Amino acid sequence: MKTLLHLLLGAASLSAALAVNPALAHAAPDSTALAVDDEYLGDVDHHTSARAREVTTVVVHNGGSASVNNSTWQDRRASCHYTINRDGAIYQHVEEGRVAWHAKSANATSIGVELEIRRKYGRTCNNVRKDGKAAELAREQGVRVEDVYAELCAPTPAQYKALSALIRDIKTRHPVDRVVGHCEVEPEGGHADPRAFDWTRLGEAPRAPGSDNACDWYRVAAVHAKVVGFRGATGGGQRITLNRGSEHGLSVGDLGYMHAGDADAPTADFVIERVRAREADAIVNMTLEQVKANRQVSVSATFGGARGEVTGARGGLLSAREAGDEKPRLGSCEDDFTYHKGGTIKDFTVGEDGAIETLTLANAGWSQRVCDDARGMIYAGDKTDAFVEDEGGQKIRFQTHEVSAGESVARITHGRLTPELLRGNTRIVVRSKR
Ligand SMILES: [Zn+2]
Repeated sequence: MKTLLHLLLGAASLSAALAVNPALAHAAPDSTALAVDDEYLGDVDHHTSARAREVTTVVVHNGGSASVNNSTWQDRRASCHYTINRDGAIYQHVEEGRVAWHAKSANATSIGVELEIRRKYGRTCNNVRKDGKAAELAREQGVRVEDVYAELCAPTPAQYKALSALIRDIKTRHPVDRVVGHCEVEPEGGHADPRAFDWTRLGEAPRAPGSDNACDWYRVAAVHAKVVGFRGATGGGQRITLNRGSEHGLSVGDLGYMHAGDADAPTADFVIERVRAREADAIVNMTLEQVKANRQVSVSATFGGARGEVTGARGGLLSAREAGDEKPRLGSCEDDFTYHKGGTIKDFTVGEDGAIETLTLANAGWSQRVCDDARGMIYAGDKTDAFVEDEGGQKIRFQTHEVSAGESVARITHGRLTPELLRGNTRIVVRSKR
C-alpha cells in the first residue's frame, strides 16, 4: 500500500538525486526557433542509443498524444523524437543527437515525428484494421472503409502547419534530404502510417501508391474550399455549403476543417453530408458569427471504391463520366422544352443580407430531363396558377446551374426570396428539355 510517507520519501529521494546528478535534469529542446514543450524530454532515454551517423531523414508516424506516448514508451522498447498533438503543440521526447527507436533500419539516420491521431468509436487509426473493425464501422456509419480511415487518421491543419515548421527547423541543423512515412521505410509488420496523409501540405509532390510499401495515403488529398452559404441547422449548428463538390473529388463522409482566414488552426471539423457537382453541404457546430469568421475550409477528400479504381496519386478525381455515370447531353432549354412540375425545394442557402441565394431542387435532375439552364418559378400554396412574389410584387425566378441525376441547384435570378416567403411553398415548375 502506498502511504503518504512513501510518497514523501519518493519526492525527497528524487530531489536529492537531481541535486547530485545533473544528467537527470531535463535537457533543452534542440530548436531555439519553435515553441517546443520539453515536459517529457529525456523520459524515455532508456529506449534510445548513441547516434553515430548524420541525420538525413525525417520519418512521419501516426501515434498517441505526447503524454500517452511518453507513458507507453516507458515499457515498450520504442521511442520517438517528437509528438505533435492534434492542436499543433510540439513536444520533444528525445534529443536529436540520440537515436530513437521508431522505424527499425531508418533509426540510425532519422528523426521521428509522431502525429497524434483521434480516437473515435473506441478505436484509433492504428488499430481500426484489427478484426475487420474498419469494415464493420463503415457498414454501421453507412460510409466507405476509406472514409473511416480518413476520419480517424487525417491530421489536423494545425498538425500539418507544425510539422512543416518542425521539418524546416530540423533542416537548419541536419542535412535532411528526404521526408518519408513510416510505411515507406518499414513496411514489414503492417506499418501503414501515416494514413490519410496529404504530402502536398508539406510542399512535397503527391505520392503514388507503392507496390513495395504499405502506405495508405494515396487515398486522400486536401481540397481547399470556401463556405459560400450557411443557415441554421435543425438541432443546432449551421448548415454550410462549400464551393467544391464531386468534380473536385469530394464525397459524402469526407472530413473537413474550418480555418480562420488562411490560418491553419482548425476551429471546428465536420463531415460532408451531401455532394453535388460543384457544391457540398455539411453541418458544423458553430454560431453564425463563427462561420462568418471561418470561411476558409479544407477537406480531406477520400478517394476509393465509390468512383471506381484508384489509378494514381490523384486517381480519385475521376469524373462522373469516367465512372460510367454520365449525364445525357441535354443541350439548352431555349429550344424544344416542356414544363416539369414534379420538383420541390429541398434546401436553400442564405446570403449575408438574409435573402436566399441558391435552392436545391429535388426530383428535378437530368433523370427528369431538366436541362442545365432551366428556368423556373415557385408555386404559391397548393394552386398551380399562382407564384411566390417578393414584397415588391416581383415574381421569384430561378435558373438551374448544376444538374445532377436526381436534383439540381438553382440561383435566384429575379426577386428577393427570404426563408419566410418560402415557408410552405416548396413546389416548383421548371422549363425543361422535352
Ligand atoms: Zn509508425
